[in-house]
Amino acid sequence: MSAARQSSQIRGSVMEAIGNTPVVQLQRLFQGHEVVAKLEYMNPGGSIKDRMVRYLLRHRPADVRHVVESSSGNTGAALAMASAVLGLDCDVTVPDHTSAEKVKRIEAYGARVHPCAADVPESDSRNYQAVAERLAADEGAWHLDQYRSELNRQAHYADTAPELWDQLDGQLDYFVCGIGSGGTISGIGRFLKDRDPNVTVIGIEPRNSGYRPVITDVANDGDFGTVIEGVGKRRPPPAFDAAVVDDVIQVDDADALAYCHRLAREEGILAGGSSGCVTAGIARLLPRLHGRVATVFPDSGAYYLSKYF
Ligand code: PMP
Repeated sequence: MSAARQSSQIRGSVMEAIGNTPVVQLQRLFQGHEVVAKLEYMNPGGSIKDRMVRYLLRHRPADVRHVVESSSGNTGAALAMASAVLGLDCDVTVPDHTSAEKVKRIEAYGARVHPCAADVPESDSRNYQAVAERLAADEGAWHLDQYRSELNRQAHYADTAPELWDQLDGQLDYFVCGIGSGGTISGIGRFLKDRDPNVTVIGIEPRNSGYRPVITDVANDGDFGTVIEGVGKRRPPPAFDAAVVDDVIQVDDADALAYCHRLAREEGILAGGSSGCVTAGIARLLPRLHGRVATVFPDSGAYYLSKYF
């Protein structure tokens, strides 16, 4: 095509369509307050993980032809999408409770999915992280390792956070965020505090998950089990930067799902369970917050229609 016919509106590939997601006020749910959500499900791979995967792949060793990752589903889909664009071989391990839609979404991009026992600790050789590590070693593939890689939170520091900051004209008082690997809250939280030390960063996780005990120095009081995908960990992985987080609160699954339904019916926002979880957390916190609250909605409710809706 001649240079004259090239348009600045045309992206070279779907990877260049990642980002610039909208920020929307939750005006019916939280009347009289200013709560805004960045709709990360509008990324082409369907979640915030598109950004993290793009950033990690930019830093991949030069000779990589095959990639492996452990994922609650969204990182897997992002990696599978990127692998299609870049011509890479892709394997993804997921906990076996991962929604069928998410598994099929990864497979649709041509990647292989390996479901692994969900109810075993990270030290168990059947755990999805351990299986990914073995698979990568056996196949001579590159393991992105979002739970341990510093590039995870750096991606959000370099990409997601400045975008959010600009969209808010640097005006926010609280950043409230679900925690899975911890990359999103750590990267965005660090950026916001570097710009404005008065911003308070609050994490939201499912009941009996392992982040709050680390922040508040109390014992973890029960077994960790949740139907909410993508958030919670028995123990915080290295991707999480505890120094950035002021507090963590825990939300029951029933409240998370109730807010998932309310987001769809009252705001027209069809978001995933972790978005319901963070919204339920905001609802609980709101009586003691004064000022603008920002959050991110990581993925779409479309991936959980038969599970949550
Ligand atoms: N929500 C969903 C749906 C996710 O897939 C993830 C990633 N596991 C998160 C929230 C949490 O993001 P992070 O891993 O950056 O903490």
